[in-house]
Amino acid sequence: MKLIDMHCDTLLGTAYGEQVDLYENQKMVDFKRLRSAGFSGQFFAMCLMPEKSFANRGMTKPDDMTFMKELSDCLYRNIEAHSDIAAFAGNREDLIRNEKEGKLSCFLTAEDGNGIGGTLEGLEKMYEMGIRLISVTWNMENCLGYPNSFEPEKMALPLKPFGMEMIDAMNRMGIIVDVSHLSDGGFWDVVRICKENHKPFVASHSNCRALTPHSRNLTDEMIRALAEAGGAIGLNYAPAFLGADIHETNSRIDDMVRHMKHLRNVGGIECMALGGDLDGIRGNLEIDSIDKTLLLLDRLHKEGFSESDLDKISYDNMFRVIGDTMK
Ligand SMILES: [Zn+2]
Repeated sequence: MKLIDMHCDTLLGTAYGEQVDLYENQKMVDFKRLRSAGFSGQFFAMCLMPEKSFANRGMTKPDDMTFMKELSDCLYRNIEAHSDIAAFAGNREDLIRNEKEGKLSCFLTAEDGNGIGGTLEGLEKMYEMGIRLISVTWNMENCLGYPNSFEPEKMALPLKPFGMEMIDAMNRMGIIVDVSHLSDGGFWDVVRICKENHKPFVASHSNCRALTPHSRNLTDEMIRALAEAGGAIGLNYAPAFLGADIHETNSRIDDMVRHMKHLRNVGGIECMALGGDLDGIRGNLEIDSIDKTLLLLDRLHKEGFSESDLDKISYDNMFRVIGDTMK
């Protein structure tokens, strides 16, 4: 079985001065475990952390471009040092070639479009850096729009005009638009713009709001719109997005199965994917290491998902989205 995971925060330690070894480490994701479990691709996120995360460590936050340069350099350094098993991928051709050579494809993503810095040139720089997926917002307002919120008025806020322009530009350039963390109002703007451009979009690491009432999760209406656009939703393993309520501290495969069944019922099998958010989540995690993703797939098989369903979830749907978006 081949697998692709759409979101991990393993690169983040770099921001705080850690020497992140991506080949083998004590974190939740490394090349070695990815390859042993049969992964063809992993999306490595660069989450633009807020000032206070740096202040808490007695550090000053670098500007976004410097931050992204440091984290992307870390990924490229690790790829270079282990070029026998890992390689950069910026499109489907790269993915196919890397697979033939027996290598893991490393996709680079930015979790927060603020890195654009308010200009189209910023977006071009991000593309040149290798970024092929951008989460429109993280948990703060940025130059593109507003984040998800439990307050209805905030949740309804649309994209900013510049945000709309940038979604359009991302569609043209071959950068995947990611709605995880975005406000509901912004989500519907993404639906509209991507529809005009005939491009799918993704929720790289989000679950179902009908089952877990967290503002980071998607409503049924949103799941249907995303599926209709040909996009994919990466299942997130965070306890607060999986449990019966948002204060849950256990991440259980039982709950993942509930969310997966709901996704299948509402959006259909073609919109389902993996986005574990490993190294970005805490709690008692049943899947606390990327290779344990196989436990989830085994369990889904026992719950009636066919071999072909599992192929779609673990790989085929993302293979399609990558081909329909990246250039
Ligand atoms: Zn996130």
